[in-house]
Amino acid sequence: MKNDMHADTVILSKKLVAMDARGWDGPGYVAIKGNRIVGVGHQDEMQAMVGPATVVTDVGDRVVMPGFVDPHIHLEAISMINHTYVDVRVPICKSIKEMIQTLRAAIPTRLFDGWLLAQGNTFYDQKLEEKRYPTLAELDEISRDIPVLVQAGGHITLLNSKAMEIAGIDRNYVPPEFSVAGKCVVVRDANGDPTGQFQEMEAVLPFPRVKGDLLKTAIRETTKKYLTEYGVTSIGEISETTKGLEAMSELQRDGEMPLRVATYLWVPGTMTLDEACNWQQHIKPQSDSEWFNVEGVKIFTDGGFSSANAAMSIQYRHREQASMGEMAMSKEEIKHTYLSARASGLGLACHAVGDKAQEAICEAVIETGVSPANARLRIEHGGIFLPDYARTTGMWKAAGAKPCPQPTFLFGLGDFFTYFFGKVDGARGRFPFKQMWDDGWTVSGSSDAYGGADPRASNPFFGIWCSVKRETLYGEIIDPEQRVSVAQGLKMYTIAAATILGHDDVKGSLEVGKFADIIVLEKDPREEEMDELLKIKVDHVFVAGKLVHSRA
Ligand SMILES: [Zn+2]
Repeated sequence: MKNDMHADTVILSKKLVAMDARGWDGPGYVAIKGNRIVGVGHQDEMQAMVGPATVVTDVGDRVVMPGFVDPHIHLEAISMINHTYVDVRVPICKSIKEMIQTLRAAIPTRLFDGWLLAQGNTFYDQKLEEKRYPTLAELDEISRDIPVLVQAGGHITLLNSKAMEIAGIDRNYVPPEFSVAGKCVVVRDANGDPTGQFQEMEAVLPFPRVKGDLLKTAIRETTKKYLTEYGVTSIGEISETTKGLEAMSELQRDGEMPLRVATYLWVPGTMTLDEACNWQQHIKPQSDSEWFNVEGVKIFTDGGFSSANAAMSIQYRHREQASMGEMAMSKEEIKHTYLSARASGLGLACHAVGDKAQEAICEAVIETGVSPANARLRIEHGGIFLPDYARTTGMWKAAGAKPCPQPTFLFGLGDFFTYFFGKVDGARGRFPFKQMWDDGWTVSGSSDAYGGADPRASNPFFGIWCSVKRETLYGEIIDPEQRVSVAQGLKMYTIAAATILGHDDVKGSLEVGKFADIIVLEKDPREEEMDELLKIKVDHVFVAGKLVHSRA
């Protein structure tokens, strides 16, 4: 046996869960050489791999499986928030009163470039005890001299009077029609005065953002605490800034960030479509393509449910005026973006929460005549709410679109569909994961961890728990017939997630030739009670064949 056949490391387990095509699930070994997997098999076949320098680790009956993949996350955004925002999310602050107290107390130590920035939840108005957003008078109780911004999820921003003054917002203010996130709305009172509440306007407001070395530190620490320790070895990053992407690749190059990043360039938030199509002129990755690559373009085609701006085929009924939400892009614009990205070798990921938006994207792509078999089209949040399941999934199929749903939203959002759309329409097609599995869809899980998300969102076991138990914030179980098994939940965050990312040739399973991104779990999640899933720890994390985390 030639020496170069010998593995660097061999991990032996009674429970090797490979997620491969043959469905290997039982005793076995995985052998690593360099950054790749060079062998997977029965223990009695492993001797050929073991040389004098090979490290053999027997983990007993602990589960050995591929590292988790999170195909939709906002790592730069959560890094920035972890470092500069005061966390006032429920349950940290349960009421407006607690929020005001927390923020007042934070003024002496937590100002960032003169601003007090705070992070609330998505559906903050439903989660706070008062079941409403704070009024302008309440926001001014925090301070009248210091600008205060509270981000209530990704779609709603709250400003105090001082912040509005700096932003030049008064009763005569006319907002831009659209921001990068959707249709801009200034919420006004009966007199026409701004209430301090803004929809889809975060990107156009003049508050300070984290930059430079601080950004790098923030990304490194957030990656460790919120991803590596949970066993996440690969992400699909929805980009924020080119500086953030470059910081990630520098950290990878310097061995300070054991996480592979495939990014979707947010157009126009990060750069224009033209720039994204020529991204090599605007981003200089410092690590190689196994660690960092530009996968596609990300666009918003509608808004979100929390601002009633997801474009739906049914009516929102919770406001005085019924509406069906708003498209943020025309079909022609979607078509143009898709074809431009494609001509530059990029895929397209479309934020489309509402079913009408999802169908409009599919129509646009079908009209381009591109074969569904290689459409490279992702629908972000597709599969969260499908009141007409057959029609919408039929459109996905015709266009070759891959849905990218977030099971984590079931917890935070699940209660609200009937509130928005009524008891009948709102109860149809909520997170229909079991049905999607049965119909042959690749059902992936991702966190969409961003500012307003649940603090646990980036832990894949939280998403798996959401898919398996289907329990909401208010403790309801939503459509239990749509529960998936724990084994399916694990697939959603490994091989299925790698497939949605378009990286299933190198990630998502333990197979010869793939990256040696491997995790060892403390216990077997398939043998635990549902609520125990939330507590499962990852004992060891290997990325590119190197042990990058071990639990103390
Ligand atoms: Zn997102």
